[in-house]
Amino acid sequence: MTDYRHLSYWLSGLDEPLTPRPGLPGDTDADVAIVGAGYTGLWTAWYLAEADPTLRVVVLEREIAGYGASGRNGGWCSALFPTSLPALARRHGRDRALAMQRAMHDTVAEVGRVAAAEGIDCDWRAGGTVMLARGEAQLQRARAEVAQAHAHGLTDDDLRLLDAAEAAARCAAEGVRGGTYTPHCAAVHPAKLVRGLARAVERRGVRIHERTPVTALRPGAAVTPAGVVRAPVVVRATEGYTPGLPGQRRTVAPVYSLMVATPPLPEETWARIGLAERETFSDYRHVIVYGQRTADGRLAFGGRGAPYHYASRVRQGFDREPRVFAALRRALGELFPVLGPDVPVTHAWGGPLGVARDWAASVGLDRRTGLAWAGGYVGDGVGTSNLAGRTLADLIRGVESDLTALPWVGHRSPHWEPEPLRWLAMNAGLRVMSSADQSEHRTARPSRRADLFNRFLGH
Ligand SMILES: Cc1cc2nc3c(=O)[nH]c(=O)nc-3n(C[C@H](O)[C@H](O)[C@H](O)COP(=O)(O)OP(=O)(O)OC[C@H]3O[C@@H](n4cnc5c(N)ncnc54)[C@H](O)[C@@H]3O)c2cc1C
Repeated sequence: MTDYRHLSYWLSGLDEPLTPRPGLPGDTDADVAIVGAGYTGLWTAWYLAEADPTLRVVVLEREIAGYGASGRNGGWCSALFPTSLPALARRHGRDRALAMQRAMHDTVAEVGRVAAAEGIDCDWRAGGTVMLARGEAQLQRARAEVAQAHAHGLTDDDLRLLDAAEAAARCAAEGVRGGTYTPHCAAVHPAKLVRGLARAVERRGVRIHERTPVTALRPGAAVTPAGVVRAPVVVRATEGYTPGLPGQRRTVAPVYSLMVATPPLPEETWARIGLAERETFSDYRHVIVYGQRTADGRLAFGGRGAPYHYASRVRQGFDREPRVFAALRRALGELFPVLGPDVPVTHAWGGPLGVARDWAASVGLDRRTGLAWAGGYVGDGVGTSNLAGRTLADLIRGVESDLTALPWVGHRSPHWEPEPLRWLAMNAGLRVMSSADQSEHRTARPSRRADLFNRFLGH
């Protein structure tokens, strides 16, 4: 049996047994069947149960609640959305784009509100995000991001430029030339959030069956080896694991993000690094990195850079890529030389997130078939999955609301290309971005290759 504690630093330290809940006992009738007990499935269940306690909601999970990205992520509960504000405005108009972004802002507070109301102690700290600009090319991107955000209706209260001193006062990384700050983010302990949420939905009468793999989703039914859950609405909440379901191989591509955590750092070290408000932090390089100061005083730091695996395969072995762990340690050491030449690391892990072909997250319910879905959050699912859950609860109950009018509702992303094209394109993109970072480091000039690639993706 899988040692679930081994899957991430967050799961490893939980003060609760990770014993699987009982599996599905046999054929069952329900009003809503949800496949996947990560944030998406559990938020959907929570809002359904809150709105209508008489609904029979059944969640089916192949492993345990929080097994997927929800138990392993960087713990940025942010208002980031995979499609940028300008790209949303091009597709849907300025007002709808702004409504989407404002809904994401509200979502951060909503996660904190429900966590507090349910007594979920997830080390919540709404300290915002500081994005560092290290070098001229990154500074140009920081300025451009703020200018674009303001041109689309946001203000300094949402995102503002920091000069070098202001940025370093928040996060004293090496070579900081400036940066940006947004208050719209909280640092969380992701596994405490997802496990607490599972208990909260159970208290509200939702049934969760673990170690229950769904082998097929079809209108009116979720099929498992132990029996069939018959329900007029079936929700797919499987994100990076979606390609394993029949008929879904090209719906999203699983992309791996990997993380490391240091031991708890002494107060003298924190006095030199900063992050006094537990701001989540990153910089403006192309191959995304992200970090947080954990409640127990560690640096938890992650990044992309792991290869995409042929045919969208997802395996536990792919969670660990020594080359990427070494690169993350190097990157941490470059950011914070105070950590010494050999950055100490106690935990290293990773997991798959879901990327749609047009990089657009979406949520929807096909009324004809009763099949619903949410996902394609790329690396922004901690907040976005809550908005998805609230929206699905409205869609499923037939309620028209501000949420169901948001532009991502009902969006259908195109399918990914068949292999080997998918593999070639994903890994070529990764190479473009990392070579762009290297060239910007050498020349201090923005890389045109990365801009062209971003434009090709419609960012
Ligand atoms: C290392 C890492 C760092 C990240 N950092 C951040 C961050 O800081 N901020 C942020 O916003 N986002 C981050 N993300 C992304 C974020 O974690 C995800 O977008 C989010 O957790 C997705 O939640 P989910 O419930 O949709 O999917 P998941 O949490 O992946 O849950 C899907 C569940 O479905 C189950 N399942 C799959 N197939 C089946 C089946 N056939 N039958 C039954 N069950 C099935 C899985 O076992 C799993 O439990 C990160 C992701 C990773 C991997």
